Amino acid sequence: MEKVVIIRYSEIHLKGKNRGYFERVFTVNLERALKGLRHELHRTSGRYLVEKFDEARFDEIMERVLRVFGVHSCSEGLLVSSDLDGIFAAAKLVAPQSGTFKVETHRADKKYPLNSMEISAAIGGRLLSENANLKVDVHAPEARVCIDIRENGRALVFGSSLPGAGGMPVGTAGTGLLLLSGGIDSPVAGYMMAKRGMTVEPLHFHSYPYTNEGAKEKVKELAALLSRYTLVGRLRTVNVAHIQEEIHKKCAADLNVTLLRRFMFRIATRIAERMGAQCLITGESLGQVASQTMEGLTSSNAVTSLPVLRPLIGFDKEEIIERARKIGTYDTSVLPYEDCCTVFLPEHPAIKPKLSYIEEEEAKLDVDALIEDAMGTFEFIEL
Ligand code: ATP
Ligand code: MG
Repeated sequence: MEKVVIIRYSEIHLKGKNRGYFERVFTVNLERALKGLRHELHRTSGRYLVEKFDEARFDEIMERVLRVFGVHSCSEGLLVSSDLDGIFAAAKLVAPQSGTFKVETHRADKKYPLNSMEISAAIGGRLLSENANLKVDVHAPEARVCIDIRENGRALVFGSSLPGAGGMPVGTAGTGLLLLSGGIDSPVAGYMMAKRGMTVEPLHFHSYPYTNEGAKEKVKELAALLSRYTLVGRLRTVNVAHIQEEIHKKCAADLNVTLLRRFMFRIATRIAERMGAQCLITGESLGQVASQTMEGLTSSNAVTSLPVLRPLIGFDKEEIIERARKIGTYDTSVLPYEDCCTVFLPEHPAIKPKLSYIEEEEAKLDVDALIEDAMGTFEFIEL
């Protein structure tokens, strides 16, 4: 008897003619998620099986697989020889100790001596005769014992399933450059775009020496946590300290954040174009802070030719926090390190700055030279 993980996939089957392509990407993603853990991955009749792994690492394998986008659900299964004794031995382990249950059989091997109903009845009967606390309920059972008779003289027996991450396989919906701060929102934004199949590449702006090594480690940790879903183990960073100094020295204080955000968007656009990313992704949410008004968002959009995806635009902070907790980034996000945006933070940021006012203040800076200098600090980090 061998323990296996059964993987069912979600929206992929909707993709008609592209199905083969989606399945290939999905297979590669499952392999990436399981990298470093001994296993074999096989596809059989609309699902995948993970076999031949170290059973002591079962929980880890399950966790990793459940995070892969495109996974609808997973079950722990037992692979046994398909004679009734073999199936029964596994069914006993899968069945509950008490309460109502139902046996469901699917037969891929049509030459098997019993049909599906007969197999279910035989196994159900044996379970009942061994355990007086069990009762059959075919309409609303508390538990199910599922049997899958396969063609190679083997059968798969499994019970309940756990919900997977859903979504589409990462790598099937283009590439986006995620502006990843050290905050709560941007990791969630990256998660959401990856969930729809986008390859999400994180970019972080730091203000060393105003921000310290701890702040950088925190962002690396966030990027690593995110990579469990995005399967992208890279982080790009750019220093913007000199830009903040210039803005602070020469421009109206209430525009500090607005002007810095425009520099971030310009630099991000340069990097995105260089690496072939098709859009920028931010964690902005309408009205959350002064820079996230329609005027603020418009002033950032004005300096990039790329679409800016803001998957959290209509989310309340509580909803974002809930999701951050669920995906496991929250505890790292709230670690108290300074983000570049908190350096030189104005007391009263402009809430609805007019574009003409922004451009007037920005004209006091040598924008191109500042961007050139920032590009010189570009770093590529393998996580
Ligand atoms: P977050 O929790 O994501 O930091 P926030 O509510 O603190 O968001 P802002 O600080 O106004 O909001 O940032 C808005 C968005 O701008 C962020 O979600 C992120 O996408 C981007 N951003 C802000 N600071 C940085 C940074 N240092 N590096 C990269 N992107 C950043
Ligand atoms: Mg922030």
